[in-house]
Amino acid sequence: MSMLPVGSTIGILGDGQLGRMLASAAARLGFDVVVFGPNEDSPASRVAKHTLVADYTDKDALAEFHVRTNVITLEFENVPVESIQILEDMGATVRPGKKSLEICQDRHLEKQFARDNGIPTAPYWVINSVEDLAAALKELDGKGILKTRRDGYDGHGQARVSKDDNPATAYARIGNQPAVLEAFVPFVGETSGIVARQADGTYTTFEPARNVHKDGILYSSTVPSGFDDETIADTIEYTIRLSKALDHVGVMAAEFFVLENGDIVLNEMAPRVHNSGHWTPEACQVGQFEQHIRAITGWPLIRPRRTVDVEMINLLGDDIFDTFGPDDLVTIYGKREARAGRKMGHVVRRLNLG
Ligand code: AMP
Repeated sequence: MSMLPVGSTIGILGDGQLGRMLASAAARLGFDVVVFGPNEDSPASRVAKHTLVADYTDKDALAEFHVRTNVITLEFENVPVESIQILEDMGATVRPGKKSLEICQDRHLEKQFARDNGIPTAPYWVINSVEDLAAALKELDGKGILKTRRDGYDGHGQARVSKDDNPATAYARIGNQPAVLEAFVPFVGETSGIVARQADGTYTTFEPARNVHKDGILYSSTVPSGFDDETIADTIEYTIRLSKALDHVGVMAAEFFVLENGDIVLNEMAPRVHNSGHWTPEACQVGQFEQHIRAITGWPLIRPRRTVDVEMINLLGDDIFDTFGPDDLVTIYGKREARAGRKMGHVVRRLNLG
């Protein structure tokens, strides 16, 4: 596999904090970055050489993006698959490819894909109407979560439901959109696998963290996770299996619920660097952002060995204005407005430093 030469330009579809951290990692290896996204003055644009502000399906802007870049990647999983197709038709190399997006953008396809690959998911029903929901609620044993099939994130597009809820009211709460009803999983913890995979199939994995969510938003990731060895091994093995089946190139993550007996159940996948891996730059020989840049440019992957115990805590809204101590390794995303519940930064604390 050929290595993209130093000084080449990487294109990033998406302009948020993940793009910003990817661009910083790319700069460290001597690459330039061009960002493509819909927002003016975005977090990623302010650390990039150039930004194209346009809709994701703007053909002229995509043509310019292709001409300006040597390889294209993404930081946002809801980039339309059509945009990738347009870029590929122009001869661009896009990593990861369409399959990773197609599957990860749709909660039904994602679960079906996991099951087809022998990976358990929560029991679920595909919902296209109030009647579908009424029938599914009858079969639901206890509580469930209704989720839009597409475009959900951080608890958006979700509603908790129980058997006796009025189907029409519940369906309206998520905007009467195509959805899945998931049975509530009685988990004792949550974890995630993060793999970096190159075009030739070479891969490395990070150690799975213990993730805590509050109100559907990741609150913290801690490593070591304290989960059983078998749970950790399954998390890693399932994540590798999914990345191979997608022929994914770059970093991807898979989030799992951990059951009382140690078994794991897939919640969702992300075809990109992931919030639950934000501790990796501070705690491992290589962080997920640099490893992603290496994976998509054909540079050798670094062994992601962890050198210290660590916890990562997300900073939402005004949390970024807190006072931090001398051991708090803070990353601020540069968003102009600190709205409540919005991911604004994170803090990493190295534990057991002595
Ligand atoms: P999601 O946006 O699907 O990743 O969901 C965000 C968080 O909500 C998860 O990390 C869980 O903490 C919780 N959650 C989502 N789906 C379920 C489920 N089927 N059962 C239990 N908790 C869930």
